[in-house]
Amino acid sequence: MSIRLDGKRVLVTGGTRGIGRSLSLAFADAGADLVACGRSDREAARSLAEELEGRGGNHHVLHADVSSPEQVDTLLDECRTRLGGLDVLVSNAGAISHVPFSELTLDEWRRVIDTNLTAAYLLVSRALPLLSEGGSIVLVGSRSAQAGIPLRAHYTASKAGLVGLSRSLAKELGPQGIRVNVVAPGVIETADKPLNEEIRARYERLTALGRLGQGEEVAGPVLFLASSLSAYMTGETLHVDGGI
Ligand code: NDP
Repeated sequence: MSIRLDGKRVLVTGGTRGIGRSLSLAFADAGADLVACGRSDREAARSLAEELEGRGGNHHVLHADVSSPEQVDTLLDECRTRLGGLDVLVSNAGAISHVPFSELTLDEWRRVIDTNLTAAYLLVSRALPLLSEGGSIVLVGSRSAQAGIPLRAHYTASKAGLVGLSRSLAKELGPQGIRVNVVAPGVIETADKPLNEEIRARYERLTALGRLGQGEEVAGPVLFLASSLSAYMTGETLHVDGGI
């Protein structure tokens, strides 16, 4: 990864597992100071902390539920104390479930919307006082927001919401020099969630590149949007989906 972000202060939510873990490691390798948070998986957090320690630098792995206003406040207080502010916010933590719409309860709708969309509102609104001019916000959306997917109405609605949020925020925060963009992954295979052979083969057939993506392949576009290489991009959605 040749993008350098030396001294940039970065928060990655959901940074302990899956795509977020790849993002955390890529930011650390690019020289950034980092706070990565997970919610509850202590083993994943410990493993990431160990891996980051091996790399040296100012890196911290914390726990916070990003759907909780109080816990987001505490998380951002930690970013202020440990990093001295923020240059980059990556809202990556996400929740999903597969439920026929006729069986989708209000509780499940709220759980997914709160984790994927309301959390972005909480994080951005509370991070604004910490974000420097030239700051970059990256919201991790999903290709499925554009495609629509059966059994995931709540998930796709939350991810489509991020696109609208980013477009409005781009206009509102642009005058302060803060950019807001979305990275929308397609099907990404991570160590936590290997797919069964049938589903893997189906997605491989649907994808122009004939294979699933890897977390590291989402990290590249996220680092690009975090860096000054994308200084004239805001309100944009980058699809990282192998041409699905
Ligand atoms: P994983 O389920 O592998 O990891 C999710 C991460 O988010 C974990 O670190 C988890 O922490 C954390 N997390 C979940 N809920 C919360 C919460 N309420 N507060 C704080 N942290 C939380 O997800 P993926 O890596 O698969 O996905 C990452 C993002 O990419 C998500 O937004 C997802 O919607 C999006 N995406 C993923 C795709 C894929 O194919 N994998 C495709 C398109 C989009 P803990 O383990 O401690 O709970």
